[in-house]
Amino acid sequence: MHAPLPGWPTATTVLALEVWDGFSELSYVEIPGPKPSEAQAPARAMTGRLDRRLPNWVVTTDLDTVHRGVAGGGGTPRTEKLLAWHATIAPSLPDQARLLHMHASIPGTTAQTTIDLSTHPMTRRPAVVALRAGTDDADPACASCGPPALPPRQAEQPPGIELDWATPAPQPPSADACLVPDSRRLCVTCRMNAQAVFAAKVPTGPQPDRVIALGAQLGSVFGTELVIPSLAVWPSWFDLRIAGPSSGSWAEVSHALKRAGRWTAHDDHGRFYRGAATGSSSVGVVHKDLTFIPALAADATTLAVEFPSAIDGQGRTASLDLRPEPDSPSR
Ligand SMILES: [Zn+2]
Repeated sequence: MHAPLPGWPTATTVLALEVWDGFSELSYVEIPGPKPSEAQAPARAMTGRLDRRLPNWVVTTDLDTVHRGVAGGGGTPRTEKLLAWHATIAPSLPDQARLLHMHASIPGTTAQTTIDLSTHPMTRRPAVVALRAGTDDADPACASCGPPALPPRQAEQPPGIELDWATPAPQPPSADACLVPDSRRLCVTCRMNAQAVFAAKVPTGPQPDRVIALGAQLGSVFGTELVIPSLAVWPSWFDLRIAGPSSGSWAEVSHALKRAGRWTAHDDHGRFYRGAATGSSSVGVVHKDLTFIPALAADATTLAVEFPSAIDGQGRTASLDLRPEPDSPSR
């Protein structure tokens, strides 16, 4: 979509609206104000215990339907110069809607932007996912590229009332906290890769250069129907999001930020991009946010996103068509 939100106190840009059965997921980015407070600390952003106010969203259409949303996950750990947010909006949009009026509000402030769906048509097309032969340089001792963490060991002593007081306090979450306990460190390759990606992710302006509506449907992968809805190209990197509605090994991976953190991609000119997971959430839909460097070349027409074999032991490649749909339905 690529629509700024004029009048909002921080530079905020609406990027994409994913329409699922029964609800929609709105993605938007925010350049925080000049004085980021403690409340914007990445760990707290992850848990949603923010003092800063996330907007309530109300979307109205030219069919007079009203759709209300609350901010879901987001925050983008370790990239506090650019915050990526998601909001879940319900109910879903009517098929015949042509205009979306998107209102954001916090007490004392409202802002609005209008999306014309004839110029931003809903996009949906299949993408080919192929198994990839060969192995990558996965390190079995690495929390990112190694196999899944074993489930936490159960206490070997039988539970008893007299033991309750002695239950040790849970460890505080680490900076890159994940919901699945995994004490393994990242291998050098994964660590260096993440450092390079996060170091490059410093915005020079409030908006991406372009947002490509992919609507790529990958079919059933890792136990769920996965989609890559859109791709945002920034001056020195690009972001995409892989989302699915439910379960399977994809859900396990998305519940843990450290898992499957190292990604790669190629375009049709053979240019190589390296990527890292920058966020994940199971609010609304289960998804993983990825950032690749460098910026996507302007003449790339396809992008092959290579799923790390750390997800289920098997490498896969999803081929995405970056060109506009030839006969986009102007719904
Ligand atoms: Zn690794």
